[in-house]
Amino acid sequence: MTRLGILGAGGRMGRAIADAAETAGVPVAGGVDRDGAVFGGYADAHALAGACEVLIDFSVPDALGSHLAAAQAHGRALVVGTTGLSADDHAAIDAAAANIAILQAANTSLGVNLLAALVAQAAARLGPDWDVEIVEMHHRHKLDAPSGTALLLGQAAARARGVALDTPNLDRNGKREEGAIGFASLRGGSVAGDHIVVLAAEGERIELGHRAESRAIFARGALKAALWLAGKPAGRYTMADVLGL
Ligand code: NAD
Repeated sequence: MTRLGILGAGGRMGRAIADAAETAGVPVAGGVDRDGAVFGGYADAHALAGACEVLIDFSVPDALGSHLAAAQAHGRALVVGTTGLSADDHAAIDAAAANIAILQAANTSLGVNLLAALVAQAAARLGPDWDVEIVEMHHRHKLDAPSGTALLLGQAAARARGVALDTPNLDRNGKREEGAIGFASLRGGSVAGDHIVVLAAEGERIELGHRAESRAIFARGALKAALWLAGKPAGRYTMADVLGL
């Protein structure tokens, strides 16, 4: 059976993925964090990559380069769930996808990926006189804003309208720019992740949303993605491929 390696294993998501694997009976070779082995005894990503078939990375953008190198050195498939990735990070993922199977997803839950499809449909049908605003709330420890999921939902709306998603500007002083996709980020408490996409026109408004009640939904999705990715040819894949959306 496919053996997993968890990168960022000491973090909230790393622990949730180890729990989900145990519940599902999926073997985990080991887990590595910034300071070395969390369990399994492998000192770093390279050593862990040698001992598993698929790596799952939920850590920090700074670690992506070494995780891509480790996966490629051993020809292992890699699931990247880390958010806050830069354009250079995405280019590095594209380059690695020439050599190994990689799935990058800012959100691994079924619900959010279905929501993205619904948002795309609404944005395409409603046209540019409907303003798109995305509101998200996460726990107080989250590092990046807007969330990777908010950007994923913004991308879905932008693509459906055939426009590019500009670098999100959280400074909302002044008049709303026509055609812009706006973002608002709330941080506090222990919220696992709430997203509401508001489509607003003169006199009416549609709200499409998703609330994550626990990290277990992301962990189960990441596990499903890892098992699906094992043995796939080199290339870059998405959760839509896994979920058949
Ligand atoms: P966290 O801070 O609890 O965990 C991150 C872990 O990465 C920490 O244990 C940290 O020590 C570790 N780390 C730092 N540098 C490292 C390195 N060089 N090598 C290995 N590990 C290193 O954060 P979290 O809540 O678990 O989230 C982790 C990431 O996953 C974030 O980017 C978050 O936004 C993202 N996330 C994605 C999804 C999804 O569905 N794709 C869902 C939830 C969170």
